[in-house]
Amino acid sequence: MDFKRLETAELTGKRVIVRVDFNVPRHPDGKIADETRIDAALPTLKYLKDKGAKIILLSHFGRPKGARVPEMSLDFIQPILADKLACDVSFSDKIEAASVEHLPDGGVLLLENTRFDARETAGDEELAKAYAAMGDIFVQDAFSTAHRAHASSAVIAKFLPAYAGLAMERELDHLSLALDNPKAPVMAVVGGAKVSTKIDLLNNLVKKLDRLAIGGGMANTFLAALGHNVGKSLCEHDLKPLALEIMESAKAENCEIILPFDLVVAKTFKAHAESRVCDLESVKPDEMILDAGPETVNLLADAIDSSNTLIWNGPLGAFEITPFDTSTVEAAKYAVSRVQSVGLVAVAGGGDTVSAMKHAGVANDLTFISTAGGAFLEWMEGKTLPGVEILLK
Ligand code: AMP
Repeated sequence: MDFKRLETAELTGKRVIVRVDFNVPRHPDGKIADETRIDAALPTLKYLKDKGAKIILLSHFGRPKGARVPEMSLDFIQPILADKLACDVSFSDKIEAASVEHLPDGGVLLLENTRFDARETAGDEELAKAYAAMGDIFVQDAFSTAHRAHASSAVIAKFLPAYAGLAMERELDHLSLALDNPKAPVMAVVGGAKVSTKIDLLNNLVKKLDRLAIGGGMANTFLAALGHNVGKSLCEHDLKPLALEIMESAKAENCEIILPFDLVVAKTFKAHAESRVCDLESVKPDEMILDAGPETVNLLADAIDSSNTLIWNGPLGAFEITPFDTSTVEAAKYAVSRVQSVGLVAVAGGGDTVSAMKHAGVANDLTFISTAGGAFLEWMEGKTLPGVEILLK
């Protein structure tokens, strides 16, 4: 992907507005539950500091819906960031160029929650212009916001030259390695709860892939469409015609569809519920399919063996409850063994995928794991992301 990289920008003494994603999860007592998103911004911020840029940070937090909600102020980030960057970080709730006047080279100013202004999510040009007046250059470093045409994440680039930050650069390089410009054969594993949330994604993938493994609750809809009894499993019966259509277009596009071949079923949806492995013909009316069986994991392993690139979104079963995490854990571990032994390119992301990969203990061993939710899914859907489009040459 040919986009504008930070290394090509003249930064010294420049006012650089950086869109970051400090929308971190917090405990009820206000403590941060996971600092990954703050840490993700540090390489870009340190790089800019080293270059002597004046740094102005924009981020949203929560969903204040255009109102000033005190509990959603971004001021809690200020001391944490100061500590991580080992420098003073100022904070302002005013969008005005005057706040940047006294910022030294290498100084950092964090602005208040962008979503306190209703014009942010509306993609308002006047707001974007007001932000732009505070800087000379815009750096988009929050891939997780790239699917939104918001004032601070995309529209601002109408008024300033825009560059990808280092986290964005890593994300775009890996995503293009996986889907835009991959080493074939390319396989995807798509799991999760429902087909209805992934229709565009499946339709796009069958056009681009050599094989597509469908798992999790959504596989039940495909199995039901093929005439199998799925008992009282999660299943969108009204989407059976659509599942058949997807399978038809996969055939036309030479994309092999891999569905579960054996199943783990239980009568109750709870941890350590009594369960059994059965074939596709043996699900009883009072049973639920909660995971794929061991033969399916072998089938997936064979498919991974014949692929050079793997994209993964969504768990293969109800992975939060033991033992229905087994196929997700086993298949993910197998993928990692191929990354390590033959250089398989394995990229995962979207929704629950990060927690599923963390649960499998492989989050650091895949080629790349994207922490973006909606943006990752829209990229898999083949959509143009406004926050990426502004960076293209
Ligand atoms: P998604 O957000 O669409 O990626 O879906 C993730 C959720 O799907 C997780 O909470 C899983 O527990 C759930 N899930 C996966 N497989 C099944 C299944 N066979 N039955 C019920 N829920 C499932």
